Amino acid sequence: MKEYQLFIDGKWTAGAEDRWIEVENPATKEIIGKVPRGNAEDVDRAVAAARAAAESWAAKAPHERSEFLRKLSEVIEKRKDEFCTTISSELGIPLKYAFDYHVSGAIREAKYFADMCENFEYEQKTDCGMIRREPFGVVAGITPWNYPLDQATFKLFAAMAAGNTVVLKPSQNAPLCCCILAEAIEEAGFPNGVFNLVTGAGGEVGNAIALHEGIDALSFTGSTSGGIEVGKLALSTVKKITLELGGKSPLVVLEGADLEAAVADACSSAFMNTGQTCCAYTRMLIPESKKDEIEALLKAEAEKYITGDPLDPETEVGPLISEKAFNKVKGYIEKGIAENARLIAGGVPENCDKGYYVNPTIFSDVSNDMTIAREEIFGPVLAVIPYKTEEEALAIANDTNYGLYGAVYGEPAAALEFAKKIKAGGVHVNGAGGGVDMPFGGYKQSGIGREGGTFGFEDFLEIKALCY
Ligand code: NAD
Repeated sequence: MKEYQLFIDGKWTAGAEDRWIEVENPATKEIIGKVPRGNAEDVDRAVAAARAAAESWAAKAPHERSEFLRKLSEVIEKRKDEFCTTISSELGIPLKYAFDYHVSGAIREAKYFADMCENFEYEQKTDCGMIRREPFGVVAGITPWNYPLDQATFKLFAAMAAGNTVVLKPSQNAPLCCCILAEAIEEAGFPNGVFNLVTGAGGEVGNAIALHEGIDALSFTGSTSGGIEVGKLALSTVKKITLELGGKSPLVVLEGADLEAAVADACSSAFMNTGQTCCAYTRMLIPESKKDEIEALLKAEAEKYITGDPLDPETEVGPLISEKAFNKVKGYIEKGIAENARLIAGGVPENCDKGYYVNPTIFSDVSNDMTIAREEIFGPVLAVIPYKTEEEALAIANDTNYGLYGAVYGEPAAALEFAKKIKAGGVHVNGAGGGVDMPFGGYKQSGIGREGGTFGFEDFLEIKALCY
């Protein structure tokens, strides 16, 4: 069993109280590690260290900060197997996907923000003088468990590259990979206090961070309800806030679409990471006229998703993160049946005696007012919603409190026009890929602000009008 401490001011240090959080392997229910259950005093120490390091870190030339990030990308690359096995065992992701879905992002982001840091124009001349971008000072990150490494690195590498020092509170469900990240940062030789890690519960460490006067900006990724609570607390000291929250994203199939490609994308998006993906396409909108054909394709596709042991190379879908998540997802599947949606794959899981497994589940004949079409299930459950006209499809796609992501399949020009009308922070047309240079974030209750690309970097810089 791995046991970690807090990482504050470049040193591994005990929590203020002798309380611990045990980390469970969701495939075996075995306790695989423990981390301190930090408190407000630990947050104070971490913020003091970050504050003390802020001035000298911000004063470094951009190329010097870039060098630290490049070195860090090398250390993560060197330790990638350790990251992969840790993430697989604390999250349940099949080991064969741990690098592509989780670890590769951290390496890419370190390199990307190293380049951004070096090439960004921090000063722009204007007729009155200049617009200058300056780091905030101390930035905190509060992150979820579903992409436990990448959600931390996406924000914090940008924040550090921009010249801020940081305090990270990872999720209590999967904190171990962030402890290895702290080791990697130590190995890469970052100055003390630039990166600080405080593990603990949301209501304790998270709240202490949100309320702390010594933190200038807070970037939160998690549920919409958590984001609202944290946001309210953070505003008490008028922190700059970025919120990356939940989603209920549509994948819209138009007439003329490549149905096989659309079905493959819908299943991959809804089932990968056991459906625990904020931007998953969990509502598939299909023309009524193509229902039989698409349902047959979906049934055949779902059979390819073998659920089981994350260490088995055959496995496509591992367990859910916890018993709480298992009961929640089971409840949604029961609710779908009770609301008369029609099961075409999967169904209610029997029990979780041998791990928190739920087979990929597809409901058809879903209407957009059913609970399974409105709420974020966060499990491998796809809701298929037939529509009669494209106007109706657009109304359904946008009839949600969320607005994180979306996809459209159809004739390229028509699909692109449709994509422009979807109220979401990112929409992919006919399976086109994205990249770290594209902004990521949500409309409506999916969030405030953006990560990734220039937008995600600028989000960690204050804007000064310097007139002279
Ligand atoms: P969560 O909101 O329960 O927790 C997220 C983090 O916030 C954790 O570190 C938690 O300890 C902390 N936290 C929770 N409530 C808090 C509070 N009241 N005060 C302070 N801190 C608090 O979310 P989760 O279950 O860890 O993650 C799943 C959610 O995250 C899903 O809704 C998913 O859609 C969302 N998510 C969004 C994105 C995105 O980029 N938009 C990415 C990944 C996950």
